[in-house]
Amino acid sequence: MSEARTVYFDNNATTAVAPEVFEAMTPFLTTLYGNPSSIHTFGGQVMAHVDNARERLAALLGAQPSELIFTSCGTESDNAALRSALYTNPQRDKLVISVVEHPAILNVALDLERQGYRVERIPVDANGRLDMEKAQEFIDDRTAIVSVMWANNETGNIQPVRELAELAHKHGALFHTDAVQAVGKVPMNLSEGWVDFLSLSGHKLHAPKGVGALYVRRGVRFHPFVLGGHQETGRRAGTENVASVVGLGMAAELASKNIERENSQVRALRDRLESGIVATVPKTRINGDVEHRLPNTTNISFEYIEGESILMLLDQYGICASSGSACTTGSLEPSHVLRAMGLPYTAAHGAIRFSLSRYNTAEEVDFVLEKLPPIIARLREISPYWSSQK
Ligand SMILES: *Cc1c(COP(=O)(O)O)cnc(C)c1O
Repeated sequence: MSEARTVYFDNNATTAVAPEVFEAMTPFLTTLYGNPSSIHTFGGQVMAHVDNARERLAALLGAQPSELIFTSCGTESDNAALRSALYTNPQRDKLVISVVEHPAILNVALDLERQGYRVERIPVDANGRLDMEKAQEFIDDRTAIVSVMWANNETGNIQPVRELAELAHKHGALFHTDAVQAVGKVPMNLSEGWVDFLSLSGHKLHAPKGVGALYVRRGVRFHPFVLGGHQETGRRAGTENVASVVGLGMAAELASKNIERENSQVRALRDRLESGIVATVPKTRINGDVEHRLPNTTNISFEYIEGESILMLLDQYGICASSGSACTTGSLEPSHVLRAMGLPYTAAHGAIRFSLSRYNTAEEVDFVLEKLPPIIARLREISPYWSSQK
């Protein structure tokens, strides 16, 4: 085992499983392996734990337990919401999304477009804020569903979801939000009734990978995405991923307890990192809407150099961050989000996202603040763009 430290500032890609979550899960991976649908006591007793997890998650969201369906991931929840809305509203043939959605929405919309549905994509300004005039123009009586993320995974921008939901409802359309990045960081109360569908994912919330949930407001018709057995009251077939569901329930309870901390302690660490970088490194820019942003995220462009090179040098110190989104790693194209914001080429290529969690410390922030400026200076020394700027 390597003794090198890891400084993990990539929590929008995935998070560490909380120790309490791991502990809550282990009985269901060892002794309590029964099938919750079984008639015998050994299996049947497991269902109480699935129900308990549903209650804990409902409490975090301000929802009713019966409004939650456990799924395999955030991506499945996104797929299920869009497909259900179209299936249950056959007289409507249009979807309205935004250009900065996650691929879990973008690529479903693209597939539906190829099948003949009409898709409108709301553009954003240079700070990643939605063009609400366009939104008004796009949302009409042909629209089956409006789907806009609560918070953006790359910039942390928080979107005007309530306003969009009201626009959708004015035209009799449904409203879905991909809240994978917002749950646990932004307080929510779904009992207010303005959200029809909401997607979330365990592994962005200190639960394991491979579990998620879809909120479907009571009274909204739902057509299942995964068909088969009668699990999840017929809304999502497949034997329950009990251990992970229990883990998600515990993660939700921890998130409820820590949401204040996210907005004070984690925010303070993010701000210390961000202002420290801006103060010591010339020619940086903060990407996104700093007034409406997740407390844990900063996206910073280091102009005239490549984000990938910065990441490789940070990696030598065990520092984990991200350029673009993990989903586009492998290509050197700047992320679709930064491109949609119209960032100049020289800034989009040098963008780095740091995303923190409650497990990060001030000492880690200071470690990055010590290591990063010389890395940037070194890369700029060998950058032809930089020298032509000087
Ligand atoms: C991570 C993420 C997803 C996908 O969730 P998975 O559980 O990994 O499928 C969807 N939307 C956003 C905004 C995300 O950050």
